[in-house]
Amino acid sequence: MRIADLEEVDLHPARSELKGILKRILNDEVPTDDEISILFSAQGREILLLGQIADVIRERQVGSLITYVVNRNINFTNICTKRCRFCAYSVNPGQEEGYFNISTDFFRKKIEETYPYRITEVCVQGGIHPSLNFEKYLEILSNLKEIDPSLHIHAFSPQEVTHAAFTAEKDIEDVLREFKKQGLGSLPGTAAEILDDTIRKIICPNKVNTSDWIHIIELAHELGIRTTATILFGHIESPRHWVQHLSLLRRIQEKTRGFTEFIPLPFIAKNTPLKQDYHLNLRELSDLDYIKFYAVSRLFLGDIFKNVQTSWVKLGFPLAQITLTVGCNDFGGTLFEENLTRSAGGSFGQMVTPETFQEMIHQLQRSYCERGTLYNLIC
Ligand code: SF4
Repeated sequence: MRIADLEEVDLHPARSELKGILKRILNDEVPTDDEISILFSAQGREILLLGQIADVIRERQVGSLITYVVNRNINFTNICTKRCRFCAYSVNPGQEEGYFNISTDFFRKKIEETYPYRITEVCVQGGIHPSLNFEKYLEILSNLKEIDPSLHIHAFSPQEVTHAAFTAEKDIEDVLREFKKQGLGSLPGTAAEILDDTIRKIICPNKVNTSDWIHIIELAHELGIRTTATILFGHIESPRHWVQHLSLLRRIQEKTRGFTEFIPLPFIAKNTPLKQDYHLNLRELSDLDYIKFYAVSRLFLGDIFKNVQTSWVKLGFPLAQITLTVGCNDFGGTLFEENLTRSAGGSFGQMVTPETFQEMIHQLQRSYCERGTLYNLIC
């Protein structure tokens, strides 16, 4: 879409400000926080307009290729002491459904299950089990390297890094250096949820706070450990928190350039304590709201993030395909095993084959390419 075409789009006169913002974005201007709030207030047809412009901007910033990574998720324990209220996956220590396994055989079996697909990455995260300590995290890394030294290890959220540092009485920088030495390739930028302590006190009161999360991520970037960036949206927060969170990620990226991609994660409420026990006013977002979120993410962050990843696990395939036409350029990973969303009541499956990704991308009349964790193309 050209700027001149935008003039012809018929919006309610009161919304001419929205057109003005979109025109400035098409002129490569970065929207202000107030302007992002206005974009997030879009409704109905306006959302489709945002999507169209986000698609144009995506083409300009990263071209038409849609990427995906052939990876395997490994969750080595669901026992966790943190009791986040949005989490339906974890169980308390001592509960019967709990499991914990960090043996070489456990990881070998998980990796062998994926042999027909030639994975390039393992994504490893777990609950904060009471017996986990710094040495055990190192053991996990050395087990994985022993099994297949060529695999990229994408592991340990800022929460897990904090726990490792706490148990070893080391500072975060030393822990990250040791992890890197032991084979850690990159960190998941999870545990971010919403980077606002008033919200965190309600949904994850025992987790790292906002400034700790930022500190760990910036240190990782300084040490050459790339990370992803995430947001968990659609629970008790308001659009004001979305703007705050996205602006914060933008500021970090401007400083470090260490994020590989931005991954907006819609909240699945069904089986979570937030829904079942706390009776809070949860936001109920529609598919259009999801489309809006992915489009605004591209419009605001695309110039410095380049990669905006959809979440087929949370959205399902048809909606994930749509988000790839409103600003996203990456389909995410094959996963092979997905426990967190499924426990929360998500119903969109645990794995996808590379061929299914390719077929869905083909349906969008776009080209595809497998990528590595750090967006090196493998095609
Ligand atoms: S989100 Fe992570 S840290 Fe929080 S309870 Fe679940 S497993 Fe534990």
